[in-house]
Amino acid sequence: MSVTRPVVSQRKIWRVAEVVETAEETPRVRTLKLNVADWPGHVPGQHVDVRLTGEDGSQAQRSYSITSPPEVREISLAVERLEEGEVSPYLASEVRPGDRFELRGPIGGYFVWTVEKGGPLVLIAGGSGIAPLMSMLRHRAVQKAKFPATLLYSARRYEEIIFREELDRMAASDPNLQVAYTLTREQPASWHGGNKRIDRDSLMTFVPAPGDRPQIYVCGPSGLVENTAKLLVEIGHARGCIRTERFGPTGA
Ligand SMILES: Cc1cc2nc3c(=O)[nH]c(=O)nc-3n(C[C@H](O)[C@H](O)[C@H](O)COP(=O)(O)OP(=O)(O)OC[C@H]3O[C@@H](n4cnc5c(N)ncnc54)[C@H](O)[C@@H]3O)c2cc1C
Repeated sequence: MSVTRPVVSQRKIWRVAEVVETAEETPRVRTLKLNVADWPGHVPGQHVDVRLTGEDGSQAQRSYSITSPPEVREISLAVERLEEGEVSPYLASEVRPGDRFELRGPIGGYFVWTVEKGGPLVLIAGGSGIAPLMSMLRHRAVQKAKFPATLLYSARRYEEIIFREELDRMAASDPNLQVAYTLTREQPASWHGGNKRIDRDSLMTFVPAPGDRPQIYVCGPSGLVENTAKLLVEIGHARGCIRTERFGPTGA
């Protein structure tokens, strides 16, 4: 007699994640390194849902992108603390190694990239929107991919550039990787990078011409993502070459 079991998609299973390590990336962003029971693996660009349960049984659920590359067993998230938020202050300030919460994923099959897709690769981030793009860059570095890649990254202030030291190291050791920052609120005295929001000029400067058919990934606050995608299309990039992910309503 055969028994038919319902097939539950991997991404729908809630698993226990244990915090292994935390690291302060900026004054408002913290990396959580997690050991997830029976983690099935992920593709750069995917995210997870985190579910917190209060002592009274109330639950809150939010999405967070995976920043680690697939080659690393433990997964990492980078959570930005929103002072008025329900979930992010807990994850970005309170959790300690050894704490546990529920998580499901990996989720997403559209905003993903692996070295098999090749390049040129263009990554455009606003604030914590760097998170899924960091997984792509780390994966590209582990795989020692040689095709050109560009990161155009908008943050409010120098201290708020998440992963800055690692990004600078990556760019310094890889002649095919270009990293350009723009600071929208405040710039240090000796700053040589951009000093305004991502606009047509910066896209014309840093994104390869539409004829090169770059694969473009844009992630961050909704306004930045929508405006950047609109400008890219106006410049002549095919809609099919532009992938976007929106994190939330406000931002830099
Ligand atoms: C696919 C996906 C991936 C994401 N990945 C990340 C990630 O890697 N890192 C990360 O920090 N966040 C990420 N986010 C955003 C995250 O899911 C939460 O929305 C965020 O942490 C706020 O949750 P909260 O409970 O603290 O705030 P809430 O209690 O939900 O909201 C509090 C206030 O903040 C506003 N708000 C909500 N979200 C944002 C936002 N993103 N930016 C600015 N204001 C906001 C709300 O309108 C409200 O006024 C992602 C979102 C999506 C959809």
